[in-house]
Amino acid sequence: VVYLDYNATAPLRPEALEATLDALRSVGNASSVHQAGRGAASRVDLARQRLARLLGCAPGELVFTSGATEANNLALRAVHSGGGGAIVTTVVEHPAVLEAARAITTGGRGRLIELPVNRDGAIELGPLEAACQRGPVSIVSAMLANNETGVLTDLTPVIKLTREAGALVHTDATQYVGRLPLDLSELDVDLLSLSAHKFGGPQGVGALFVRRGVPFPHRPLLLGGGQERGWRAGTLNVPGIAGLGAAAEAVRVRLHDEAARVAGLRDALEAGLTSRLPGCRINGIKSPRLPGVTSVTFPDIPADAVLAAMPDVAASDGSACASGAPSPSHVLLAMGLSREDADSTVRFSLGYATTEHDIERALDTVVRTVREVRRLMGTSAE
Ligand code: PMP
Repeated sequence: VVYLDYNATAPLRPEALEATLDALRSVGNASSVHQAGRGAASRVDLARQRLARLLGCAPGELVFTSGATEANNLALRAVHSGGGGAIVTTVVEHPAVLEAARAITTGGRGRLIELPVNRDGAIELGPLEAACQRGPVSIVSAMLANNETGVLTDLTPVIKLTREAGALVHTDATQYVGRLPLDLSELDVDLLSLSAHKFGGPQGVGALFVRRGVPFPHRPLLLGGGQERGWRAGTLNVPGIAGLGAAAEAVRVRLHDEAARVAGLRDALEAGLTSRLPGCRINGIKSPRLPGVTSVTFPDIPADAVLAAMPDVAASDGSACASGAPSPSHVLLAMGLSREDADSTVRFSLGYATTEHDIERALDTVVRTVREVRRLMGTSAE
């Protein structure tokens, strides 16, 4: 199988596997004061330092969670006090932000404003300006990179407007971390979410960056033993956290090379598809994008038919999280695609282990499959 679904999950890096196995073989609760407990705590400390080095923040600014879903929920819940302030987010966010924001603001607990995007997937700032002027705003949450299209958000103007309104800024960086360099000493956000399995760590572990000075959570998601400075109670997932740290360290030293190489492969895939399958369109191509993602619309060809006909290429229609759901991608609809075009869109996402050979094989298979489906459906020839 050619695996081109890194935005759903990336293969575990060997370093992460080793660190996870090593922790699984050892006993110890990171909160215990005896030697076994200190061993577990030191694995967690090392992972915290490694992740902090990747992100350019202090280790003490990281809260380990079960993933980005929890980190997003925690960020919004922690900050939004419900005192009539608004949560401002974007229509193209992952459901872990959108659904959380909707739930948090229901029942008169504040307004929710969802910023639109243009055809290229870029956020429209006008409604943010208006919301900030109207005030009060408690938090603005905008993703750094979109999971379906790879389109990047320029957070600089978002941060500027949010600061002027006296609100906090959160970003869902789940697809960005480990794919492009990030430096939290320069990117002035207050909160940032990530998930280990998108950059080669294990599934089910992630983190929320909480900049020093952000007030203690109004409502933590989990109450209990007070771990993670009260931000997230519960025995720490030491094997998962150790794997996250090892993946962060592995990616940190290779990030520039990996990003350039993966972008080259993605560009080759796009060039091959558009030249051999006239009529196919790349969504968000005019915007800056992640190196490894391409969202391709094959007009009149249902994406699920294409995917079902090529089981040896692992790609995705819409996002993996939403697959099985009958509704078309909210991201593509927000960018102005018709329902039919949204349903005819395949996402290929490449990553650190993708090879040139993978791309050649995928290209041949996709081109052959799309031509075959076109023939069977009797849709317009090329
Ligand atoms: N945000 C984005 C942008 C994502 O792509 C994902 C994973 N698809 C998540 C949040 C949620 O991550 P997890 O499922 O690991 O909690």
